[in-house]
Amino acid sequence: MAIAYLCLGSNLGDKKRNLNRALKEIKNLKMVKVLKVSSIYETEPVGFKDQNWFLNAVIKIKTKLPPLSLLYLLQGIERKLGRVKGKRWGPRKIDLDILLYDKMIMHDDKLTLPHPQMHKRRFVLIPLIELGTRWKHPALNLTPKMLLEKIKTGQEVKLSEVKWQV
Ligand code: ADP
Ligand code: MG
Repeated sequence: MAIAYLCLGSNLGDKKRNLNRALKEIKNLKMVKVLKVSSIYETEPVGFKDQNWFLNAVIKIKTKLPPLSLLYLLQGIERKLGRVKGKRWGPRKIDLDILLYDKMIMHDDKLTLPHPQMHKRRFVLIPLIELGTRWKHPALNLTPKMLLEKIKTGQEVKLSEVKWQV
């Protein structure tokens, strides 16, 4: 059994509904148990700036699925919720990323673990800290709090008024 952390994000269409539908679909996966769900955050886009703000959240799960099978199931949910292939870091109805999978370090063309950008993203680290993880980045050997302190620039992240409905 592995512990994994996933990041959910949406900045297109009904963002609140997209996030709720994604969480519901994840909860319905047979081999996945959702253990913790962060608050929802409103976050400034990173990378490609000229787009809507995102709603983001992080969840903690327990699973028997190997990481690639988990990724394929998440991509299936993205498709089901109507995500179309667009620009990298561009607008999307739903984005489901695997941030961490135990202490696994892997790198291939389908999957990089930990997620290659997570340590640079306030919208990931802030909800991760909210979940109270004691995890240290397996390659950088730093806690989420330490990683957050290293990010100085911009990237606004605000606790949202939007609450979960599932
Ligand atoms: P991004 O989330 O970086 O904006 P996409 O969601 O379009 O981009 O994902 C592009 C590709 O990233 C996916 O096809 C997937 O194979 C790959 N990928 C690599 N590592 C991960 C990860 N940890 N979680 C999710 N996708 C990943
Ligand atoms: Mg993604």
